[in-house]
Amino acid sequence: MIHTDVIIVGGGPAGAACAWQLKQHGIDCLVLDQARFPRFKPCAGWMTPEAVNSIQLKKADYPYSFTTFRSLKIAIKGFKINLHTAQYAIRRVEFDDWLLRRSGAPVQEHTVKSISRVGDRYVVDDEFSATYLVGAGGTYCPVYRTFFKEDSPKSREALIAAQEEEFPYPYTDSNCWLWFLENGLPGYAWYVPKANGYVNVGVGGLAQQLHDNGDNLKRHWALLVEKLDKLGLVRNHEYQPSAHSYYLRRDGGKIYKDHLYLVGDSAGLATADMGEGIGAAIRSGQLAADAIATGGVYSVKAISRYSFWPPLSKVLTSLGSSHTSSQRQKN
Ligand SMILES: Cc1cc2nc3c(=O)[nH]c(=O)nc-3n(C[C@H](O)[C@H](O)[C@H](O)COP(=O)(O)OP(=O)(O)OC[C@H]3O[C@@H](n4cnc5c(N)ncnc54)[C@H](O)[C@@H]3O)c2cc1C
Repeated sequence: MIHTDVIIVGGGPAGAACAWQLKQHGIDCLVLDQARFPRFKPCAGWMTPEAVNSIQLKKADYPYSFTTFRSLKIAIKGFKINLHTAQYAIRRVEFDDWLLRRSGAPVQEHTVKSISRVGDRYVVDDEFSATYLVGAGGTYCPVYRTFFKEDSPKSREALIAAQEEEFPYPYTDSNCWLWFLENGLPGYAWYVPKANGYVNVGVGGLAQQLHDNGDNLKRHWALLVEKLDKLGLVRNHEYQPSAHSYYLRRDGGKIYKDHLYLVGDSAGLATADMGEGIGAAIRSGQLAADAIATGGVYSVKAISRYSFWPPLSKVLTSLGSSHTSSQRQKN
């Protein structure tokens, strides 16, 4: 049996940021991840300045693909705006590996199956034990499943279904494009060109609304592929998209008890407007580490609920709810 102070289940941004912060406090931890890093994670890899600053990421020190956008090309139901704002993009396969290695924490490839409480310690698969356990295993985190799911079920209303693909492509348009609420999609589609010749394209939306409208993501993916071709953004590519789901932030659910902490997607913390989850994963990982180090309360109140600003979220919500399946057919 391996004993340590803190076991972190999952080495994505939430787990890696938690490990890094624990190290700053001089606390030992062990990261368990079912995947060997670098590993694939379906994600567009967009990061806000706040998310980039929270890990003191300097472009000059980052050895991989790092893209800066000075503006975003946004269309909301066909109404076009050019939003001037500094935003960034990384490739998750590179970024997550870099962040985890930078934490300096020991990492073990291990799929967590069972967790039990034995005295004042948590025992994982009869192989690892710790006083504190951090659930950073994403949407299907075993820590959430074992200790929180029954008391704090997540609302299906907050579930985002998303589909994306990232591939090398000799793009000619270096703008980031976002299309909101088109063809009845309760969410948005994106085209994100990245440094070193990659593009990421995808669609994501509220799973329950799609279902209630008799709609599905596959249809929106096909519409996106058509649009990319029509606009000349991506042509003659054989797509092989990957799908994944995650929860938008809805306050009220339990995220900590008895030396157990949920961070990132396992707590369901992506922003309510844009579904931005990397920043919240990083900040919650850091806040959980601080709470462990100080014995204080773990709270995510300080993390913004929105990526840009509340009005955008309100506009999107009201426009989105006005869409019915009949409107979808009309489109
Ligand atoms: C298609 C798509 C596009 C997105 N685009 C963006 C974007 O552009 N910007 C943004 O900010 N957010 C985006 N998000 C959300 C973002 O990807 C997540 O919020 C973020 O990855 C959460 O990080 P995390 O560390 O909590 O979880 P993850 O990154 O999912 O990491 C969880 C880790 O836990 C491991 N794990 C899981 N189960 C076990 C187990 N039983 N045992 C051991 N290890 C386990 C996994 O292998 C994984 O490495 C997107 C999501 C999707 C699906």
